[in-house]
Order: sequence, then C-alpha cells, then structure tokens
Amino acid sequence: MQRQALSWRRQGLKIGFVPTMGYLHAGHVSLIRRARRAVGAAGRVVVSIYVNPTQFAPTEDLSKYPRDLAGDLERCREAGADAVLVPNDASMYPGRDEGRYSTYVVEERLTRRMEGESRPTHFRGVTTVVAKLFLLVQPAVAVFGAKDWQQASVIRRMVADLCFPVRVIVAPTVRERDGLAMSSRNKYLDSDQRTQATVLWRALQLVSARVREAAGRGVPVGRLQREVAKLVAKESQARLDYVAFFHPETLEPVTRVGAGVRVALAVYVGATRLIDNAGV
Ligand code: AMP
Repeated sequence: MQRQALSWRRQGLKIGFVPTMGYLHAGHVSLIRRARRAVGAAGRVVVSIYVNPTQFAPTEDLSKYPRDLAGDLERCREAGADAVLVPNDASMYPGRDEGRYSTYVVEERLTRRMEGESRPTHFRGVTTVVAKLFLLVQPAVAVFGAKDWQQASVIRRMVADLCFPVRVIVAPTVRERDGLAMSSRNKYLDSDQRTQATVLWRALQLVSARVREAAGRGVPVGRLQREVAKLVAKESQARLDYVAFFHPETLEPVTRVGAGVRVALAVYVGATRLIDNAGV
C-alpha cells in the first residue's frame, strides 16, 4: 500500500482516504463520495477496512464485530473507490501476540471525557491505528464521520500536534428514516431493541427543543441531563451511559446549554452500546 501510495504521490496524484472497520453502510458510502469530491476525478480514493484490535477492551465486541468483506468491496466499487486496504493483525501489529509490539500514539486531553472515560484504552487504539494508516496510505485528505464527533476531534488534534500533512474533513451523520444514526453495530439489535434505539435521536431532539424554548437564555446542564435520563429510562431495554454537553471544538464541558453547544450521548440498548451527537 505504501509503495503504491508513494508512487501515486510522485505522479502528482492526490490521495483521499476513508478509514473504516467494514460492514459498510450508507454512512460510510457518503464518506467515500466526500473523499472523491475532495480529490477530484483524477485523484485516488482509498478505503481501509480493518477491525482494529487495540481500540477494543477485552470485554468488548471485537470477536463478534460484524464482517462482510465481499459486500464491502462491492460497496466500495459502487461508491467509486480506487483501492481498498484490508490489512491483517500480523502486518499492523507485528509481534503483538508475543508482547513485542510496543509503540502507540496517545492524545492526552480530548480523550479524557465521554468515550475515553467509558472506554479507557479506546482512543489510544484509534490514534495509533489512524497514524499507522496515514503512513501507509499517504493521504492529502482524510474523511471522518460526525457520528463519532469526539473521535474526529481527537484525530484533528493528533494531525495538528504531530504535523501530519493531512486535511481532515468531517462529514455529516447519515441516519435511518426514523433518525437512528447508521452504524455497523445496529446489526446486533433485535426488532424490539431496534425500535427502542431511536431514543438516542429523540433525546437529541428533546435537548434542541428545550434550548429553543429557552429562547437564547440557555438551559442548565443538570435539567437537560435529568430530562434525557428520564426519556431513556422509559425504554425497557435502554440504559444511559452518559450524556454530555460541550464546546464543539475544545470538547470542554459547559454549564448552560445554548446555541453552538454540542450534545453527545451513549446508551446501551440490550448489550449493544450506541452513540450519537448533535449540535443544539
Ligand atoms: P466505523 O466503521 O464505525 O469505524 O466508521 C468509520 C468511519 O465512518 C468513521 O469516520 C465514522 O465516524 C464514520 N461513520 C460511521 N457511521 C456513520 C454515519 N451514520 N454517518 C456518517 N459517518 C459515519
């Protein structure tokens, strides 16, 4: 991959990159199309499909994460990707099973809260694999989804802090008709859970409505947290992990919620942990 990418760059071709864990859906496809738009018809669009073990905790869903390589390759082709990188663990983490792999990339501030608090080793895995993929794919542009807002912010920070010559684009969240954010993990939901899973979207809308009603005065975070908790508690299979209100760029928590603030939440629906976020 790296040899191919360096050869493209020597030819003056711009590379656009979309890292994924596969089981591709319309959200991923929108990122691939966005990458194409960024590099133009003459550029090269690369998609990676890799279920990165270092971003999963031992208790999480690594081994049962959904996979469909044949379907994914078809979707990449339809979306106009030029190359799909499907690395294996041995090439990404040489010697890891024998304890020899020992180099990681760590962002130390933005990763402290929200997903980082609930999943303490998660972002170390994300920044490490994305840094490695950037070195393999040599992109001028990389596209990430707003669905994982904190992840995109952490990647932007890493790119700035480590001087990666990569422009990071964050593309909007693609949703099902009933508002549920598309996610490979939605496959885990049975039909009852699938219905209840819309509570994430309903919670985001409830927050926006309350802020609108306050007409510029802002709403105290505590009140919104209680309302969201109450809404989620009405669903028999849903359990709120966190709901957070923060500045969209610094991710610093706010005490009053008004226009420009971002809200993110994580909810277990049955055993499946779903996340979503929106601007208010
Ligand atoms: P994943 O395969 O879940 O690791 O996601 C790969 C990329 O696709 C990440 O940048 C995600 O933020 C993005 N993504 C996932 N779901 C969506 C969605 N529903 N809409 C837009 N982007 C998404």
